[in-house]
Amino acid sequence: FILLLPGVDANGAAKVARELIEAVALPCQYEVHELIATPSTGIALYPEGGEDMETLSTHADAAMYQAKQAGRNDFRFFTPAMQHDSVRHLRLATDLRHALGRNELILNYQPQIAMQNGRVIGAEALLRWQHPELGLISPAEFIPIAENSGLIIAIGEWVLRTAAAQAKAWLDTGQTEFVMAVNLSAVQFRHAELLQRISAILKETGLPAQALELELTEAVAMDDPQAAVAVMDRLHEHGIRMSIDDFGTGYSSLSYLKRFKVYKLKIDQSFVRDIGSDPEDKAIVTAIINMASSLGMHTIAEGVETAEQLAFLRLHGCDEVQGYYFSKPLPAEAFGEFLKN
Ligand code: C2E
Ligand code: MG
Ligand code: MG
Repeated sequence: FILLLPGVDANGAAKVARELIEAVALPCQYEVHELIATPSTGIALYPEGGEDMETLSTHADAAMYQAKQAGRNDFRFFTPAMQHDSVRHLRLATDLRHALGRNELILNYQPQIAMQNGRVIGAEALLRWQHPELGLISPAEFIPIAENSGLIIAIGEWVLRTAAAQAKAWLDTGQTEFVMAVNLSAVQFRHAELLQRISAILKETGLPAQALELELTEAVAMDDPQAAVAVMDRLHEHGIRMSIDDFGTGYSSLSYLKRFKVYKLKIDQSFVRDIGSDPEDKAIVTAIINMASSLGMHTIAEGVETAEQLAFLRLHGCDEVQGYYFSKPLPAEAFGEFLKN
């Protein structure tokens, strides 16, 4: 809907937007369902926000997108920076629909190393989108878009299948004890058929369940910890390992953490970065390692870039490491070479 408000200033427009949102947000009854709308409103002011109808409308649209992204049920005024963001966002959302079919998605693999003997014990599969015109796009940018559009289910399934088949191939070349870690999005984790889909993929690719590890971020696990406990229990019963990604950034409840059937905590790279100089980061990393060990969990440090960081982690009993110090994420073929060497 477009609303024209002649003769109001920014305050007036904000007041109308607020009243409108309140009115539309009232619950309404449809058969047995109570429906709740969460309207998002964008506002463009004449003449700063555009001098003709088309420009004003496009700019109000961009502001509306921002309101949606910020959690809906709110309004935003247009600012010039929004223009660029929303054009790119719309473009990515449209193009992502064809990315799978056009083979534009690629997996890279980053080695995970055992501290004890320096051996490669597995890899993390990291998704890349090679856009034909915009170039390489980071998962941090397109995963949220895929989650909003529901495309993440199909994309996530492709990731699981591709990574599982690749892990099976490396296991078959004589690599014993190889575990493939795959990132799971919030939408996938809450999907009712998660377990069936994973079981089907394991069967199809011939990968043993214990060679797959699912990474769930701490924020997602703690968002609804009770539900997370139930899903983790079921995966655990089927021999599928879980780890908690970006650990330390997501406000863990320790009483839930001990109920999570997780194999590993991945210490977030933000703590590892300044481990050499920042006494607080040192304390946090040491505390995570000790806590994990008392709870019977392994630890892996992410984002290890220097020998100094490695030495600190080794000294404090971190089990595994991953980071540029050993290798950047590599295309499958290059990872195969890395394994051989
Ligand atoms: P993450 O799972 O925490 O992955 C670690 C990120 O740190 C990766 O970024 C990796 O390339 C980067 N990294 C690894 N070592 C170092 C290092 O030594 N220094 C620095 N500065 N960075 C390092 P990437 O590949 O851009 O992925 C970003 C995030 O996107 C991932 O964070 C993960 O949350 C998400 N993601 C990636 N692939 C997938 C996927 O297949 N599915 C889902 N749902 N999410 C994915
Ligand atoms: Mg990860
Ligand atoms: Mg991480």
